[in-house]
Amino acid sequence: MALGIEEPAIETLDPSRPTEHECDRVAEAAQTVKGNLEASAAQAKGEGRTLLEMTAQMAADPTLTSTAQAIIRERRLVPERAVWEAAGTLSDMLESLGGYMAERTRDVADVRDRIVAVLTDSPMPGIPQMAEHFVLVAEDLAPADTALLDPEKVVAFITSEGGPTSHTAILARALGIPAIVGTGAQVTQALIEGETILVDGTKGTITRSPSQAEIDHARELASRVREFKGDGATKDGHEVQLLANVGDGAGARAAAEAGAMGIGLFRTEFCFLDQPEEPTVDAQVEAYRSVLEAFPGKKVVVRTLDAGADKPLPFLTDATEANPALGVRAYRTTRRDPEVLDHQLEALAKAEALTEAKVWVMAPMISTVEEAKAFTDKARSYGLKTAGMMIEVPSAALMADKMFEHADFASVGTNDLTQYVMAADRLLSSLADLSTAWQPAVLRLIATACQGAEPHGRPVGVCGEAAADPALAVVLVGLGVASLSMTARALPDVDAVLKSVTLAECQRIASLAVAAATAEQARQAVRAELPILEELGL
Ligand code: PEP
Ligand code: MG
Repeated sequence: MALGIEEPAIETLDPSRPTEHECDRVAEAAQTVKGNLEASAAQAKGEGRTLLEMTAQMAADPTLTSTAQAIIRERRLVPERAVWEAAGTLSDMLESLGGYMAERTRDVADVRDRIVAVLTDSPMPGIPQMAEHFVLVAEDLAPADTALLDPEKVVAFITSEGGPTSHTAILARALGIPAIVGTGAQVTQALIEGETILVDGTKGTITRSPSQAEIDHARELASRVREFKGDGATKDGHEVQLLANVGDGAGARAAAEAGAMGIGLFRTEFCFLDQPEEPTVDAQVEAYRSVLEAFPGKKVVVRTLDAGADKPLPFLTDATEANPALGVRAYRTTRRDPEVLDHQLEALAKAEALTEAKVWVMAPMISTVEEAKAFTDKARSYGLKTAGMMIEVPSAALMADKMFEHADFASVGTNDLTQYVMAADRLLSSLADLSTAWQPAVLRLIATACQGAEPHGRPVGVCGEAAADPALAVVLVGLGVASLSMTARALPDVDAVLKSVTLAECQRIASLAVAAATAEQARQAVRAELPILEELGL
């Protein structure tokens, strides 16, 4: 299904149409699109809202409009064609920056289609309205479209493009819509409009021409509603804190409603992704307060700005680095701009004083013991009592015993830890077999981190995507992990599976995974021990 708009022909302006008038029409159309997207954002929630706001900002981006206007003036092309070409130039530029910026080319195409639709008075591109439930199959989906999907109508979606940690995939998980992204064109092109298919977003499988029994089974699984009551524990009562990952106040409120026992990862950089300047301390206090106040009396783990690589912050990162994932990102930005961390810690301490939440603060990408000491000393100097670190770099896991002489706690970021252990870009769907925390090398490092923490009596949590996989959750608990932080939607499934096993069983199952030779063997060995996964359709 094509959700975009047809490419306008290369046509020059009729001599009777004044160039400046056409330039104004481009600016007006961009403003209309921005206004529409902002109105949609106001109706969306959580991450969907943030993404729509970001797309609205893209519509307001002066680069797109001014490039299109220059094309109209210099080549006298019709405005819709000029916008099309300007968007191409902007996409090429973003593509060359790689990582998070490259992912935003989908937003550029979305904004382009919307502006062209306004200019040519065509229907707005987007998800078709259907009377029936349907599975949406498309080349790609803009995050703005994904955010507005109605889970009552769109029962699942499949895209041929997109990486597993793309915004679209993260949003689909937050909306609870089964989705398979990045299948490759041969899979989506083989599907025939109107045919019946079953989509299993957990297993990543598509069943064509399913039998009635298979349809009934899928319906039965989909109708089971599980909820989480905020009491994460194994079958024998060993507490496992089940926490939520959030990026703003709306996400935090949704997580509280979903029963999360606290926040295990507040990605503070999500509040400021498109800001050209460092936010003021006051603006930061407001942003942090909106998250903290959703969890009075509960733990909220706040991560200091994780800027760089797939999440550049214009005021903090250098866009010209050759290898941004290995460059001056995350905590390393303090080498150049130490005051940004000072301002953030000051704002966080102020926000903490305004709320009842128990703030734990941690820094991303800590690589050495000196960094662990410097960060935790500094955080404490601002009155933030519980100071820790993320374990995302293999060196941090290997040196955990020394790290915990300084850090009060650690949280393992399995997304980056896997990326760095396997040397595989986490955004590339073509390397998905390497980019999985089922890799025994990753699990062994997590075990090392937990062993390093034990003599110091420090808790280790996990806040990467691995924590949301119920089978991996069992392994992580068996390795000694005390808390798991995930998208709030995953809480009931992880809870249900953990409640089916004792701590000793978790430990035995974890040892099978760690002893496996390959990721697939680890996954299969663990799943074979957890028949509940099949029963719950996980
Ligand atoms: C991680 O790397 O696993 C993590 C939780 O951080 P992020 O996904 O924000 O890089
Ligand atoms: Mg990370």
